[in-house]
Amino acid sequence: MIDLSRGQVWKSRLHERLKMHLWRIAANVLPTKDVISQFANVEVECTLCNLFDESSFHIFALCPIAKSLWFRSQWGVKTDSLGFASIHDFINFLFSPSFAKELIVCQREDFLFFGAILCNVIWKQKNLFLFEGFAVKVEELSFRISKLFLEHKGWRGELVFACSKRLNTIFPFQAEAEAIKWALTLAANLEFEAIIIESDSQVVQYGSSFSSKVVFSL
Ligand SMILES: [Zn+2]
Repeated sequence: MIDLSRGQVWKSRLHERLKMHLWRIAANVLPTKDVISQFANVEVECTLCNLFDESSFHIFALCPIAKSLWFRSQWGVKTDSLGFASIHDFINFLFSPSFAKELIVCQREDFLFFGAILCNVIWKQKNLFLFEGFAVKVEELSFRISKLFLEHKGWRGELVFACSKRLNTIFPFQAEAEAIKWALTLAANLEFEAIIIESDSQVVQYGSSFSSKVVFSL
């Protein structure tokens, strides 16, 4: 069978470093334990979860750590329900996700971009744990992936990140104030250096003594 996924990697608009990493995943040449065990006597349990045999397919798609990171993403991907049979299915999914019909071209690129960053962060974490004993914290990895995604994507006057939550109040200004407070918390968690908040609520502006647009240094 001709594997098209590796050719797709080079044609993508990803950063060269991410392209190389994805290509190495698609070509199955990363030094995962299943590869190393072909010429050395090593334990094959996954470095990250210690529950299953370690392979590229496992650590980027089906490892509990990877599954959690995919599910926490803005796409809410459940990798174990997508019927992947091999690493090639997984790579093809990054290029043509099953929900691609609902995405415009730049959103498909975003998905590929996000997936490439997620794989890169998982690989780095695996090596940090293996060689330096750094514990795996899914929450931190998830934030790091989001941060890298937003940083690399940059702000081009388009929506790059949106979130919402339900609030128990009948006062619009309270909802506005809570939203600003939440935005500041999210920005701090994502380690943004500064953010601009715009609000048309005069009550909130008066209460917090800022004008309709204010820059916060975090
Ligand atoms: Zn694992």
